[in-house]
Amino acid sequence: MKVAIIGAGYTGLSIGKELIKKKYDVTIFEKSKNVGGMCDTVLICGTHLEKYYRHIFKSDVDAVDLIKELGLEEDLIWPGTKMGYLSNNKIYEFGTPISLLKFKPISFLDKIRFGLNVIRIKLINDYKKIEKYTAEEWLKPRIGERAYSKIWEPLLISKFGEQKSEVSMAWLWGKIKLRSTSSTKEGEQLGYIKGSYQVLTDAFYNYLIDKGVRFELNTEVKKVEKKDDEFIVDLNNKKSEKFDYVVSTLDYETSVKVLGDLLCDAEKKRMSSVKYTSARTMLIVANKSFSRFYWTNIGDNDIPFGGIIEHTNMIKKDNYQGKTIIYISNYMTEKNPLYDVTKEDMLKEYMKHLSKINPEFTNDNIIEYHVYDQNYAQPIITCNYSKIIQKTKLKTKNLYLCTMPQIYPEDRGMNYAIKMGKKVANEIIKS
Ligand SMILES: Cc1cc2nc3c(=O)[nH]c(=O)nc-3n(C[C@H](O)[C@H](O)[C@H](O)COP(=O)(O)OP(=O)(O)OC[C@H]3O[C@@H](n4cnc5c(N)ncnc54)[C@H](O)[C@@H]3O)c2cc1C
Repeated sequence: MKVAIIGAGYTGLSIGKELIKKKYDVTIFEKSKNVGGMCDTVLICGTHLEKYYRHIFKSDVDAVDLIKELGLEEDLIWPGTKMGYLSNNKIYEFGTPISLLKFKPISFLDKIRFGLNVIRIKLINDYKKIEKYTAEEWLKPRIGERAYSKIWEPLLISKFGEQKSEVSMAWLWGKIKLRSTSSTKEGEQLGYIKGSYQVLTDAFYNYLIDKGVRFELNTEVKKVEKKDDEFIVDLNNKKSEKFDYVVSTLDYETSVKVLGDLLCDAEKKRMSSVKYTSARTMLIVANKSFSRFYWTNIGDNDIPFGGIIEHTNMIKKDNYQGKTIIYISNYMTEKNPLYDVTKEDMLKEYMKHLSKINPEFTNDNIIEYHVYDQNYAQPIITCNYSKIIQKTKLKTKNLYLCTMPQIYPEDRGMNYAIKMGKKVANEIIKS
C-alpha cells in the first residue's frame, strides 16, 4: 500500500515511523529543504539552536518514548528553571506558592482566591464541564477582576492577541494541567536535548531513511485528486504521483486548498471556522544576561510582546561561546501593528520596553538578532470545541487529516504531534 504524507514536521515523521514498521510504502512530501517543520533550528554561536524556544514537560510521555526509541535517552536533560512574571515593569518570581505570596500586584485576598482556583482547575477531570465557558467568563467571577486582569488576561493576550476573549476555559485547563506536571516546590524542570532538538530531528530523519521511508524535500504538494481508487498527488515540479492513502498534516487553510473537493461541505465548514494566530519570534544573542528567569510572562498590557525566554537560564552559556540567548515571543494576527514591520523596527519597539524593565540592558549589549515568522502557529480554541473538532478520518475513503487544531483539550506541542501521528497511523493500519 502506497501512502503519501504531506508535511515533514513531527506529525508527518511520526505517522511515517508507525507505517514503515508495518511495511507500508511511505513517501513524505515536504515543501522546505529540511524536515522538522516548526522545530527547525539555525546555526548560532557555532551550534544549532531552535528558531522558536523549545522544551518539553514531564507529562510529554510520547516525546520521551520517541527520544528513548531513537537512542537519545542520555541526551535528554531536565534542568531546573525559574519562571518570572512582569507586572508594572518589575519581574517577580512566579509559579510556586511562596512566590505567589510575595507577588505584590494583587491583594492578599486575591492571591488566596487565585491559588485556590488553580488547585480547583487542576482537580477538574472532565474538561467538557467547562468547555462552554470562555476563560474570561469562568475566571472573572471566581478570582475577581483585578487578579484576572493582572495575571490571566495578559497570558491569554500573549497567545491569542485580539482573540483572547474567545478562548475556551478548556484550553486554559489543559495548559495548567500540563504545566503543573513539570512543577516542583522549587520551580519547574523542563526537558531539553543536549545540542538542541536538531539532534532529535536528525536522528528521527536518519531512522526513517534507514527503514525505507522516501523523502521528497523541496516538494510542495499543490493538489490531491482521486481517480477511481487512486489518489493523484500534484507536485510543484509539475509531476504527479499515485497513492492508495493520503494524510495531510498541513494547517486547515492549506489542507482545504490542497484537498479541495475531496472534502465534503461539512468538513470544509468545520475547518474554515477555526482561526489561528501567527508567531513572530525574535532571537537575540547578547553579551550579558537580561534577568535570572528562564521564562518571564508579560503582565503589562502596554508591552507589545508576550514573553521573554532567556534560553541560557536553562542551558549553560558555555554551549553558545559564553553568549546570552534570549527569545522574545509574540503571537499575533494581521491586525497587530507589528505583524509586518521590519526586524529593525521591531527591535526598536521592543527595546523601549526591555530597557525600562532592565535599564542596564541596552542596544550595545545586542550582538545579533533575528526574527522568525511562523504562520498557523496556534489555533484559537473556542467554546464547545469538542463539537466542531474535525475527525482525523475524512469522508473520502483512505484520506486522513492530522494537524494541530485536532489536538484537544491539551495545548498543541511536539508531544501531541507525535501522539496524534501514531493514532492516525493505527487508523490506517486497522482500515
Ligand atoms: C513559537 C513556537 C514555540 C513552540 N514551542 C514549543 C515548545 O517549547 N515545546 C513543544 O512541544 N512545542 C512547541 N511548539 C509547538 C510545536 O512546534 C508544534 O506543535 C509541532 O512542531 C507541530 O508539528 P506538525 O508536524 O504538526 O506541524 P509543522 O511542524 O508545521 O509541519 C508541517 C510541515 O508541512 C510543510 N508544508 C506546508 N505546506 C506544504 C505543502 N503544500 N506541501 C508539502 N509540505 C508542506 C511545512 O513546511 C512543515 O514542515 C512551538 C510552536 C511555536 C510556533
